[in-house]
Amino acid sequence: MPAATSLANAPLRVVDGFGMAVRAACRYVAPRDVTELADALGRALREGMAVAFRGSGRSYGDASLNAPGLVVDTTGLNRILSWDPVAGVADVEPGVTIADLWHRTLPDGYWPAVVPGTMAPTIAGCAAMNVHGKNNFKVGPTGDHVLEFDLLAPDGRTLRCSREENPEVFHAAIGGFGALGAFTRIRLRLKRVESGLLRVRPIRNRTLEEAFDVFEERLPASDYLVGWLDGVADGRSLGRGVIHQANYLAAGEDPEGPARTLRVERQDLPSTILGFPRSLVWHFMGPFMTDPGLRLLNTAKYLAACLPPKGHSYLQSHAAFAFLLDYVPNWRLAYGRAGFIQYQPFVPKEHARRVFREILELCQREGLPPYLVVMKRHRPDPFLLTHAVDGYSLAMDFPARQRERLWSLCHQMSDRVVAAGGKFYFAKDAVLRPLDVERAFGRERLDRFLALKRWLDPAGILRSDLMRRVLPAG
Ligand SMILES: Cc1cc2nc3c(=O)[nH]c(=O)nc-3n(C[C@H](O)[C@H](O)[C@H](O)COP(=O)(O)OP(=O)(O)OC[C@H]3O[C@@H](n4cnc5c(N)ncnc54)[C@H](O)[C@@H]3O)c2cc1C
Repeated sequence: MPAATSLANAPLRVVDGFGMAVRAACRYVAPRDVTELADALGRALREGMAVAFRGSGRSYGDASLNAPGLVVDTTGLNRILSWDPVAGVADVEPGVTIADLWHRTLPDGYWPAVVPGTMAPTIAGCAAMNVHGKNNFKVGPTGDHVLEFDLLAPDGRTLRCSREENPEVFHAAIGGFGALGAFTRIRLRLKRVESGLLRVRPIRNRTLEEAFDVFEERLPASDYLVGWLDGVADGRSLGRGVIHQANYLAAGEDPEGPARTLRVERQDLPSTILGFPRSLVWHFMGPFMTDPGLRLLNTAKYLAACLPPKGHSYLQSHAAFAFLLDYVPNWRLAYGRAGFIQYQPFVPKEHARRVFREILELCQREGLPPYLVVMKRHRPDPFLLTHAVDGYSLAMDFPARQRERLWSLCHQMSDRVVAAGGKFYFAKDAVLRPLDVERAFGRERLDRFLALKRWLDPAGILRSDLMRRVLPAG
């Protein structure tokens, strides 16, 4: 944008959350380097315009929307600045994606220590939300593997942050959903792997209780553990599903040899599913995006998991195991115009069995069963607004067709979650109320966060729709 033009004349663009249930028309700029980013922030400050940063837009709700203001898209800052294949340390610009990163590092035997269920997010988006993977119980979130970052404040100050330098900002900006400044460089350590393959064991669970039993039994021996639960099964089958345990191969265990399996092409997801090009598959998903259709699909999926003999395992590439949701491009469109939301509560282990049962039963009583349910185990971490607890999370996708009833259901679930000492995750949120957030994170933590925000952003211009909704004081 020419320097003389006001940001109020920047192009207007409708941007959505990944679930498409929330969207906003926002002024939009996409700087190509740090100088242009600093310039956009400086101009927003002078013009008093609210700013929200945006990566790949993979947060489900309103985290990177800004209805009354400006969205600053940082995906154009996408250079891997350095990669040290001996130490396994990368220095990257904020818009480098998880895909960019592993494409560069896997041939040298390194995989990102933490990845979400899609490879599209940017490293800045992952740091801003402190993303967790299917190995959260073992290695913590993204932030635990960040060594250092540079944070650009609206007034042009750049703070170098690490566990030694500006540690308070380090622990608050990671998981601080872009409220304290823009990440302009992130240094992170990756995980050494001996093979491009994982050993995967599917384990069927007949009930919710059994799902918890499997998790508890398998955790010590697992590198990754994740459960799919059938959200429409009720009565004695409530919470039935399939849990997948995955483990790294030790040196010498890869039957194809690491020279082959560490190649990027060996990781690629298949280009067809049941003979159809992957890109077309979402068109056929419509009939299954109804309660009866889903009942059929989930039953088939559950029964298919009953077929292999107990103890059966197979080898799968890192990408195929980690990025299951990338198999079907545009799958979100199958939800139709109303879109969907994801709601992911985190509950301490002492209460998780009871609360998850209550939540799933509540959804069924209300006639709003979740269409996708994913269960994970977590551990606490040192970040100020961390969503993790020593317990479990249940990520639930709901079609947003009956919006008012759905929001009210989520509020009822939130009441149960906070009463049990649980937390929520801003990357997966469109429904939380300020009181839910205050009760879940605690006034003292929120005040510390807001004090840092006043220091780094005294004019309060860093404000997304998410912040406006859950942090009115910010
Ligand atoms: C299919 C799917 C599966 C997923 N699976 C998981 C999972 O397993 N675990 C998990 O934890 N999450 C998961 N997610 C959520 C996703 O990983 C997070 O929402 C992540 O933050 C998305 O990154 P992004 O680059 O798309 O950022 P966006 O969604 O665009 O933005 C996320 C946040 O980062 C901020 N931000 C962006 N760039 C900057 C910057 N340069 N400086 C400061 N702040 C910035 C934004 O303001 C916003 O608050 C999943 C999402 C999808 C769609």
